[in-house]
Amino acid sequence: MAKEFLVIDAHCDAPSQMLRLRDYCKDNDVAQVDFPKMQRGGVGASFFALYIPASLQGEAAYRYALRLHNALAAQMQSAASVAASTPSADAIVSAHKAGKIAVLTSLENASPLGEDLSRLDEFYSLGVRAITLTHSADNQVCDSCTGKGSWGGLSPFGRELVQAMNERGMLIDLAHCSDATMADVLALSSKPVAYTHGCCRALCSHRRNISDQMLRGIAANGGVACMSIYPLFLEDEASRVLAASGLEEQMWIEDEFIKDPSSEQKRRAWEELQGKLNALPRPSVEKVADHIEHAVAVAGIDHVGIGTDYDGIELTADGLENISKFALIFDVLKRRGFSDEDCEKIASGNLLRVLRNC
Ligand SMILES: [Zn+2]
Repeated sequence: MAKEFLVIDAHCDAPSQMLRLRDYCKDNDVAQVDFPKMQRGGVGASFFALYIPASLQGEAAYRYALRLHNALAAQMQSAASVAASTPSADAIVSAHKAGKIAVLTSLENASPLGEDLSRLDEFYSLGVRAITLTHSADNQVCDSCTGKGSWGGLSPFGRELVQAMNERGMLIDLAHCSDATMADVLALSSKPVAYTHGCCRALCSHRRNISDQMLRGIAANGGVACMSIYPLFLEDEASRVLAASGLEEQMWIEDEFIKDPSSEQKRRAWEELQGKLNALPRPSVEKVADHIEHAVAVAGIDHVGIGTDYDGIELTADGLENISKFALIFDVLKRRGFSDEDCEKIASGNLLRVLRNC
């Protein structure tokens, strides 16, 4: 049923998985996302994020961003018959009409820019159209919601960056930002902004989640807040379950696989750990719908979208183990009384409007 309208996933960490040698043209046995699964799930477009860990800064962050971009560019070339790079809302819509999966490149963490706006132009020329200002730690741009509050919001360079992104029509993403950073950006940005992946803090206390006050701020700004499917953002109980499982202490298995992605043995060890993670009791798709409903109640139907965080999360909501099951979200929303028109706004309409106006 989701095939009736365009569905956009506002956040997917696909390029990181491309560095781990996943081929998105194949229907992989163990994968949250690949192009065949997107087609089956009725997901016509996605923001593929070049995710830069907070541990990398300066030139190391810049070089890593280029590595991710090169991996994505190579994959897009080999996938040319099924997917297209789409640096605008219009390009997304045309690719979808032509039967191709639309991919918009975003940058998760502005650390590769340093304090040099010519780097912003360089990433723009590579097709990047959205930037998540920071990740799990404060950077040269702003404070993170899981940082130390180094700047009290945006840094002086961060203020320049907001203006420069407004001028270039690049989408500012507030996911991972502190409340003070969000408030600074909402006061300063002349264009609509997005919060691409997270859930509602009123329903789950995780620091990554967005407060009702900021949801109202995004609505007043004309922007969009996109809800995730990550258990730890969906309910507080999920954090307790994960901590009690002891599986967090085995995450080094993933690090080993990242370091040596061509090792079959390390891949299998990681897949085995993922199996154990997915065997834990997890919140269901109903919880995802709860967060969407809450965001709609607070921000309004014109300011909510979906950004899963697939390929960047070690476990998913129960029933949404991979993107082929995406349509379940709309089944639940419709059962709860959302109209087709409401669902289309959440699926893509709101995000497309923000992309056009940013
Ligand atoms: Zn993220």
